[in-house]
Amino acid sequence: MKKVLFPLVLMICLLILASAIMQAASSLKNETEKLHQDALVWDCHNDLAYRVLYEGLDIGHRLPAGHVDIPRLQEGGVDVQVVALFIQNFNYPGHAAEQTRLLLEAMKAAIKKNSDTVELARTGDDIERIVKSGKIAMPLAIEGGHAIEDDIAILREFHSKGVSSMTLTHNIHHGWADTAAKKPRWHGLNDLGREVIREMNRLGMVIDVSHVSDETFFDVLETSEDAVIFSHSGCRALNEHRRNVSDDMLRALAKNGGVIGIVFELNFLSHEYAQATRELRAIHRPWFEKLPPIEDLELRSAIEHLQQGIAWPLENKPTIEDLLDHIDHAVKIAGVDHVGLGADMYPRTPSPVGIRGAHDYPNITNGLKERGYSDDDVKKIMGGNFLRVWKTVTSE
Ligand SMILES: [Zn+2]
Repeated sequence: MKKVLFPLVLMICLLILASAIMQAASSLKNETEKLHQDALVWDCHNDLAYRVLYEGLDIGHRLPAGHVDIPRLQEGGVDVQVVALFIQNFNYPGHAAEQTRLLLEAMKAAIKKNSDTVELARTGDDIERIVKSGKIAMPLAIEGGHAIEDDIAILREFHSKGVSSMTLTHNIHHGWADTAAKKPRWHGLNDLGREVIREMNRLGMVIDVSHVSDETFFDVLETSEDAVIFSHSGCRALNEHRRNVSDDMLRALAKNGGVIGIVFELNFLSHEYAQATRELRAIHRPWFEKLPPIEDLELRSAIEHLQQGIAWPLENKPTIEDLLDHIDHAVKIAGVDHVGLGADMYPRTPSPVGIRGAHDYPNITNGLKERGYSDDDVKKIMGGNFLRVWKTVTSE
């Protein structure tokens, strides 16, 4: 009789243990879901405006082959989506301000068309009000200071039309600041550049130093009275890429009170992936260089936008764990009050494994919890830190 009872008792014990483990796992899942819902979730960089202007897509619908649109943002519990008005570099000089106006008006019309779910946010107070009303807040940012055509009056025009932030350069130098992508021209900011910074402080615009050279970054910190942001960058200690931020810069950013939005872009997350991309582009480039120049700049912008996704290797993609490694490193060096998210997911290019699009943001909250972050720290990284900067800089 004992021989029959023992395995039976053992089986019952195992079943009770398994059910307790499952219950604990499910309550942990519920707690993480609730934390994600409670957190203000903020993505500091996306080029959605291009899809609106050059593909004629309605962001209110689930877009084909893309990562970000209103349904995906809602599904992922994203509260704030900063939309970058990226200005193709070949438009400068001469057509950059005009392209900015086209993107700005197209994006404002798209937001208006979907006013039951999204709203343009000019200030940090706007953001809090919009999110409280259950909508997604969309601040607009200019990507590339060449947009202002070296004219502070144009900066004021864009601010008055609703732009609340500006990335000081893209991958070209312009009349007042150096990019990280070229050999130094001004060695940082020149006099006009310092004037632009002071005017952005006066207007209450958020200064974005992603894409700028190291010298420009340190000049900006010396000139700006306000905290600054990297809207979409990674950590150079993990991937020695010019677009990523060194530990010295992370420490200086923390001292300034600013925030780095960790980018999801695969070439910035992983050195090996970036190397594979360089090899692929070296094969493609000679063919593209044979094409005759396209005189119509709007047509050229549209074609270059539609070419995205060609030179992106599909193997050995970085994963959400690589993204979390960059977050961990930035937190280690700059502190948890200075780190956020700035995805920069393009429509047709791969995203990290584990993040198919904006609808997968809960996976990041989950990953941070698994790595031992407290609820308060998760909330800071998911969006609280960016709100702090926006509220301080843009308050009227
Ligand atoms: Zn960028």
